[in-house]
Amino acid sequence: MTKKTFLRLDSPVQYIKGIGPKRSRYFEKVGVTTVDDLIHLVARRYVDHSTVSKIADIRINDQATVIGKAQLVEARRTRKHMSLVNVVLRDETGSVVLKWFNRPDLKNKFKRGDWLLVSGKVSFYRRQQFVNPLYELIGEEEISQKKRGSVFPIYPLTEGLSIWDIRRAVRIALDECLGDVAETLPESVIAKNHLAPLKRALQSLHFPVSLEEADAARKRLVYDEFFFFELILARRKAKLQCKAGIAFRDNGELTKRFRESLPFTLTQGQTQAVEKIVTDMARPKPMNRLLQGDVGSGKTVVALYAILVAIENGYQAVLMAPTEILAEQHYIVLHEMLQSVGVTPYLFTGSTKGKERTEVIDMIASGTAKLILGTHALIEEDITFKNLGLAVVDEQHRFGVMQRAALVNKGVNPDFLVLSATPIPRTLALTLYGDLDISIIKEKPPKRGEVITKIVKEKDKKATFSFIRDILAQGRQAFVICPIIEKSEKLELKSVQEVTKEITDAFPNFSVGVIHGRLNTKERMHIMNEYRLGKIEILVATTVVEVGVDIPNATIMLIEHPERFGLAQLHQLRGRIGRGAQESYCFLVLNRYVQPETYERIKFFERNNDGFALAQKDIRLRGPGEVLGKRQHGLPDIRVGDLEYDRELLFQARDDAFELIKTDPNISRPENEVIKAHLRNLADRAELLRIG
Ligand code: ADP
Ligand code: MG
Repeated sequence: MTKKTFLRLDSPVQYIKGIGPKRSRYFEKVGVTTVDDLIHLVARRYVDHSTVSKIADIRINDQATVIGKAQLVEARRTRKHMSLVNVVLRDETGSVVLKWFNRPDLKNKFKRGDWLLVSGKVSFYRRQQFVNPLYELIGEEEISQKKRGSVFPIYPLTEGLSIWDIRRAVRIALDECLGDVAETLPESVIAKNHLAPLKRALQSLHFPVSLEEADAARKRLVYDEFFFFELILARRKAKLQCKAGIAFRDNGELTKRFRESLPFTLTQGQTQAVEKIVTDMARPKPMNRLLQGDVGSGKTVVALYAILVAIENGYQAVLMAPTEILAEQHYIVLHEMLQSVGVTPYLFTGSTKGKERTEVIDMIASGTAKLILGTHALIEEDITFKNLGLAVVDEQHRFGVMQRAALVNKGVNPDFLVLSATPIPRTLALTLYGDLDISIIKEKPPKRGEVITKIVKEKDKKATFSFIRDILAQGRQAFVICPIIEKSEKLELKSVQEVTKEITDAFPNFSVGVIHGRLNTKERMHIMNEYRLGKIEILVATTVVEVGVDIPNATIMLIEHPERFGLAQLHQLRGRIGRGAQESYCFLVLNRYVQPETYERIKFFERNNDGFALAQKDIRLRGPGEVLGKRQHGLPDIRVGDLEYDRELLFQARDDAFELIKTDPNISRPENEVIKAHLRNLADRAELLRIG
């Protein structure tokens, strides 16, 4: 028996015997800081020892798993100049060769004497081998240990921690603290969903007797995650529905003029969204609606309609954008669009300075400014509105819940509309944004040219450039995107500086402009305006143009280092082209080795132009928190659950959570006390995160 120390659930893991400050840093890398985190650490997968083969028994074409010790690790180039890492793996019955092509990074991962668990297909080339198998580095003790069951977890590893280190620490943590873990769900919910009680689930998560038991343990943790996520949404929604709001009337004064002034008719999706919004706004409750639509689907016009409804009812409206460049663009575009309607927008961002700044602040306070466009500066500064009736947030995934709340709090229960260009399927949207009502614009405005996407290698650039020259000669314009402004020693990436030179040299007959976040508003507005007018033909830019920018004549985009961007971000960037009637082209320049997963992601992007498919894939790859807006998300993160794999469970948890709030809005019934306690716990932790 280990001697009883004073470990508690909230103790830092470094107090676990054998860990200490140095190792605890490695634990942090897998998201584990406290004993409680460790107990909740979920394995990436499980290996059933009874299915591990002896090396002597494997046969060609078998799908096999073996465990052995690395005898030889070498890296070389093949005759075709591919990188190859070779390992000879031996167990007590024989040896087999492992080969990884194009994974030069593995060379430093393995060393002689390491224990490896390997699975894949057995093939033959001079002798039996595994080519590009799945692998896990494991601890020696793991091999000899035949304690409880034959199933053991493969934890996420970081350098400096073996599975055995984690396992030993988990053993101690469970022995000393499992008793302190409090159940989080009432008996009825557990029984209804056939879940394991929490304590038992945590025990079997780490020391399962069978794969089924491990699976049941995981299910319990996934359910918990989903349930509490949904419960918080359900409560938010219930609270909002109790509030009194403004009943706007669509009296048609401004909106009619606006409709007539539009050079196009609204699409069906836009019309439906407008109808929903007007109905929402007419009710004496605060509207709380999400408008989803792929990039370029025309969300701004819909938002404008709502804005005009608010203004014709005598209220102020505000539109908050995530970047200054987008706020500035909204300002330029709306200024022009609204002239015939007789509404003047005012711009307020972090760059609004001096006299202008005080003037705008005064006009917002006095109510002279009816429509205010800006960035988060609007909520950071000490700004008071006279009578804010509608708050609109553009590209909502870039803002956190707190920021959105801060904007809404500038008025007395104003109506609230958020716009999102990360479209996800309705069922999923209802689940992840359960506190909002949802409108989706499915189609894009008519007469849009197709966007053709193509990966090009650095060596094919000449041909690409000459293609681009032809298109530019037809009067079109191009974006060139780079990830960084200046050359940096650490990152071997092309900078705006370098690329600008490359482009200027390659396109001597075209005018090249440069834009990035270090320019001030005046410079930026000037450049964007020149570009809009066609005086600049090629615009070299950082991701400051990622969202919202709308220049229909730009039909070319060349992205340097696409490997640096996530799918949603790439899609946003590509959304800058394909806005006119002509065909558009997006080139992704690959000029160095990228990881196979990364290459696959870029390939997926090359093949897919549908925002829904991309958003879904991105959510799977990076998790909903990252994609849908993580900072101050205000919700517990979904880390264990997989929105696709665990879909049914997610919907079940949603229904249960919303049902619970319906029958017990304040969670005050005695049987729900466990839920309340856990919510408090989550809130405390969120508080800690905010301070830390
Ligand atoms: P997003 O949904 O990405 O914010 P925008 O609101 O910027 O898209 O609209 C993209 C472009 O489409 C703008 O130039 C806008 O004027 C134009 N547009 C919007 N609605 C329509 C429509 N019904 N018909 C034609 N063009 C439209
Ligand atoms: Mg937009």
